[in-house]
Amino acid sequence: MSKKPPVAKKEEPAATAPVTAAEEGAPAPVKKVEKGKRVKKHKEEKGVHAMYKIEGDKISRARPTCERCGPGYFMADHHDRYTCGHCGFTRYKQK
Ligand SMILES: [Zn+2]
Repeated sequence: MSKKPPVAKKEEPAATAPVTAAEEGAPAPVKKVEKGKRVKKHKEEKGVHAMYKIEGDKISRARPTCERCGPGYFMADHHDRYTCGHCGFTRYKQK
């Protein structure tokens, strides 16, 4: 490795052309992180609109209302029961 070919220096300007072509195929290692690539998990939207189902002209409630608190208080839908977040009333689902 002691030999230093002076020819290599002369080839530099000529070598720039193929380098640019290679850059197109394989991008240079740049520490750029694409911010828009973060995948957002679409969670199930929650809100009062989720408690109602509109069927034509009629509206139906997807969850029962609390018997203790009255209409307006929806009960949370659990796998085996409904619970009221307002008063804690629990009603088990009948099978
Ligand atoms: Zn309640």
